[in-house]
Amino acid sequence: MELYNLPIHSLEKMLTEGDISSVELTAAVFDRIDQVEGKISAYITLDRENAQLAAKRADEKIAAGEGGGLCGIPLSIKDAICTKGLKTTGGSKILEPFVPPYDATVIAKLKEQGAVILGKVSMDEFAMGSSNENCAFGIPKNPWNLEHICGGSSGGSAASVAASECIASLGSDTGGSVRQPASHCSVVGLKPTYGRVSRFGLLAFASSLDQIGPLSKDVRDSAIMLNAIGGYDPKDSTSINKEMPDYTAALTDGLQGMKIGIPKEYFTDALDPEVRAAVDNGIKLLQGAGGEVVDLSLPHTEYGVAAYYIIAPAEASSNLARYDGVKYGFREKESESLAEMYSKTRSQGFGDEVKRRIIIGTYALSSGYYDAYYKKASQVRTLIVEDYQKAFSQCDILVSPVTPGPAWKLGEKIADPLSMYLSDVLTISTNLAGLPGISVPCGFSSKGLPIGFQIQASHFEEEKLFKAAYNLEQQLDLQPKYPTL
Ligand code: GLN
Repeated sequence: MELYNLPIHSLEKMLTEGDISSVELTAAVFDRIDQVEGKISAYITLDRENAQLAAKRADEKIAAGEGGGLCGIPLSIKDAICTKGLKTTGGSKILEPFVPPYDATVIAKLKEQGAVILGKVSMDEFAMGSSNENCAFGIPKNPWNLEHICGGSSGGSAASVAASECIASLGSDTGGSVRQPASHCSVVGLKPTYGRVSRFGLLAFASSLDQIGPLSKDVRDSAIMLNAIGGYDPKDSTSINKEMPDYTAALTDGLQGMKIGIPKEYFTDALDPEVRAAVDNGIKLLQGAGGEVVDLSLPHTEYGVAAYYIIAPAEASSNLARYDGVKYGFREKESESLAEMYSKTRSQGFGDEVKRRIIIGTYALSSGYYDAYYKKASQVRTLIVEDYQKAFSQCDILVSPVTPGPAWKLGEKIADPLSMYLSDVLTISTNLAGLPGISVPCGFSSKGLPIGFQIQASHFEEEKLFKAAYNLEQQLDLQPKYPTL
């Protein structure tokens, strides 16, 4: 088995037992990148020199008996997460050339443990999109079929894990951006509970929804990653001071006594039949492991997309006001007045989708329209939260597909933003309610495109997600594990 195809937990053992070194492993992953990156385009920036130095330091740590966990493991990072001294673009021209003077808290934690950061991976501009086609620096391809999207907005993260151009990755999920690309690329994607992982140093898109989460080759690696990045951070006032369990302890066989909720609104006729069949099969396997199925309803699910596409753009219009050509990044230099400079900087610096969101958000918040849009959307959000509260009084986890269909062809939805937005229907409510959700591979379409299985749980119940996802993964033992590239 090639080193770059192995999960963290196998490599951790080989590293600590001295079978391999991190320098060797990191070189193997860079060789892999050199082999396949021309086809995939997952990376925006590679940081070869510092990665090799970090690998050397990790080997010293391991030799001193301080290894384990992520020590020496090569990772890719979504380009929305600040890395000290390493260019961070957010997938946008407007930040060029921004080199953060500090590390995001999650990056500081990874570095402290001796993880090796290979570089920064592609994303939809400011995390707005579901296909990664809204990126100013090239569009990553789906490693399972290069003519298809890899999903978004953490598309570079998902593609780099699936193509073994890293061992695991960090992405961010505001309305599905970790789970959806994970599902399209046959990797595991976790959106932790709002408040579980610090967002300090994450470029803000919609602050009441954004959450950093890992993309990994399997469920155990997802738990290892959450162990590494989770926990309270005084630098993020929305992070919650609540004890961190060891999430790998949840990975045990058997689901006796676990109540599995099937929300009927997630299983409409709009689902692709192959997606439906793969998810139904997954549900049967969970039942076989001892889970007890409960049919229930989340009646306001159908209003989730409408509410999200008011709330997220409203927050984005405010968060993105800082990109004005003055504080950092790109500035249009020919302008004769300040107002003209603002206007030209933002017109030239932002892409179409980001402009569309700023316009929608500004409109929705403007006086006279606030009650009709933002306030209404917030009320709908409360109804969605209440739906979940009722559901979780009857079950432990909710299971469903991640997306209505497998990955579509590149270019297919780019001219039709509404159909792109509607593809988020099954992931968005999780964020509106601040819940944790995971996407775990559960099959392939007849064309060989991956299908994901979504599990949601109540706040801070990631352990239930891991337990159910792990049981499904073990029973399915899905093949093929890797795309042919
Ligand atoms: N696709 C959704 C959007 O475009 C979600 C993005 C995300 O989770 N960052 O807003």
